[in-house]
Amino acid sequence: MYYTTLEYYKKLFESRKREFAFEAETLDEYAAWKDGLRARLREIAGIDKCIPCEPVHQFLHTEKIAGFEAEYHTLETEPGVVMPFYLIRPGQQKKDMPVLIIPHGHGGGKEKVPEGQGKFIREALEDGFLVACPDERGSGDRREFTEQGEEPERKRLNSHRELMQLGINFGRTVIGTAVWDLMRLTDWLLALPETGDFLACAGMSGGGQQTLWFAAMDDRVSAAITSGYFYGVKESLIELPGNCACNFVPHFFETADMGELGALIAPRPFFVESGEQDHLCGRSGIENVKPQVAVTRKAYALFGAEDRIIHSIHPGGHQWIGEGMREFLRKSRKIQKRNGENLLWGDL
Ligand SMILES: [Zn+2]
Repeated sequence: MYYTTLEYYKKLFESRKREFAFEAETLDEYAAWKDGLRARLREIAGIDKCIPCEPVHQFLHTEKIAGFEAEYHTLETEPGVVMPFYLIRPGQQKKDMPVLIIPHGHGGGKEKVPEGQGKFIREALEDGFLVACPDERGSGDRREFTEQGEEPERKRLNSHRELMQLGINFGRTVIGTAVWDLMRLTDWLLALPETGDFLACAGMSGGGQQTLWFAAMDDRVSAAITSGYFYGVKESLIELPGNCACNFVPHFFETADMGELGALIAPRPFFVESGEQDHLCGRSGIENVKPQVAVTRKAYALFGAEDRIIHSIHPGGHQWIGEGMREFLRKSRKIQKRNGENLLWGDL
């Protein structure tokens, strides 16, 4: 006989409404809701606790990763906290280059992105994007002593549990510091003389999580793509409580669900890719994704931009497919260029 607590948490979640459940019916109500939820998320994820610093930058060397010439850079994001990232340049460099940040998921660091999303990167380079792939705190070359080592099985490890345990004692979280680091990377990328003001972020799994939170918290993200990370938290996080510690934020289950994070991105173009067989979506699978997309879509509808949230469903599992994403980024750039016009996605 076991006397467990999980059922209690499920009931607790069901018995209470999220403080920032999306209910806005006008653009004014949306603006007030967005300000309120963002402030609360900055607080509970500990983003406000991060300490600004001089953004000391270094370009160290160039290395070959999965056929790409990847420049290895570092950027200081908090005093003494250094983020390494790859920068991959398009062949033809012009002024006003669009930027694409691709955060990695679990199972390695920034090197996983050129290895696993090579086709997506190649197409982005052909379309003139400057591509940046950073290491998240606790992964890749940012692993703590507990997970370091150059053996392939060690390289797949991360220190999210350690950093979460330390962080919550300082009012911080892994995802909060990841968002802060992506914001500082964005400061640096958008200040380059060769870049314009179009910045997209796209990620798979843990990279989708970083993309979702980052785009929700920072309007400089012009377009966002999340694959394998968008679902109702009850089935996907409460009922799967063994998921990595980075998925959890104090008070989040009392504050919002993922549909609300998506709603913070409106009306910027937002692409959600889901696999019908993705076990991380929870026991009802894709049916645990659709209601969250519907919540997000309500926010887009307030702007007359319902068609700017794309939900692409594939028959596979927890995997990046990429179908339709190149076209999505092209249309998103057109929308930003013609800002102010009431453009319909289908006419682009
Ligand atoms: Zn994690």
